[in-house]
Amino acid sequence: MMEVLLLFFLATIIVATSNGYHVEIPYQIHLLRPQTGAGGHHVHGLSCLSWRLGVETNNIIGWTTVPQACEGYVGHYMLGHQYRKDWKVVANAACLYAQGLNLTGDGKDIWVFDVDETTLSNLPYYADHGFGAEVYNSTLFNAWVLTGKAPALPESLKLYQKLLSLGIKVVFITGRSEDQRNVTETNLKNVGFHTWKKLILKQSSESGTTAVVYKSSKRKELEAKGYRIVGNIGDQWSDLLGTHVGNRTFKAPDPMYYIS
Ligand SMILES: [Mg+2]
Repeated sequence: MMEVLLLFFLATIIVATSNGYHVEIPYQIHLLRPQTGAGGHHVHGLSCLSWRLGVETNNIIGWTTVPQACEGYVGHYMLGHQYRKDWKVVANAACLYAQGLNLTGDGKDIWVFDVDETTLSNLPYYADHGFGAEVYNSTLFNAWVLTGKAPALPESLKLYQKLLSLGIKVVFITGRSEDQRNVTETNLKNVGFHTWKKLILKQSSESGTTAVVYKSSKRKELEAKGYRIVGNIGDQWSDLLGTHVGNRTFKAPDPMYYIS
């Protein structure tokens, strides 16, 4: 009987000590909080937020569709304030960086922009196709591209205008195919991207090449011509990884699709 009481006494001390320990480091409780809130209620969107963070940091790669459970979350993210706010942070950081550059003014300083989800937004299309939860359909997507109605990403347009005012030339490198040149040019101009040094599209001979390899080789060609890539912005990691990536890269938000 004494042994039982002693054990109970010791157990009480251990519990009290561990509680005290947690009280002294209150943030640890928050860090370790599981996917339930006060009273065991599910915290909506928590796991999808973690998934999006994994995607944006390139920890989750090679995925084909947004998880079904996150379709609503991604839709709210894209159409609500957060997508725009996240874009603003990226564009502001890029502007500050560009303003601080020592530019030579010889016309060789360039900034590489991707097109889809970096310059032009396909959100009107994706809003009708599950925000990336539907399997990608190239026929339907290309039909949308050919309408030439993709709006500008507003923060990207501001960055573009800032770069031009600083004397930096813009080069677009896109995975869109060469036969989409005319519609892409018209679309870009209609929404405010009026001028550029080059618009590089994928040739049919390059159709089997991954974006990382294709874009690296195009940047290599630019540098071989004497251009200096002072900045590079894209919504896919494949825009920013590989070789000749530029002096600084900027990852635009995009939780809707993954391109390797
Ligand atoms: Mg893109």
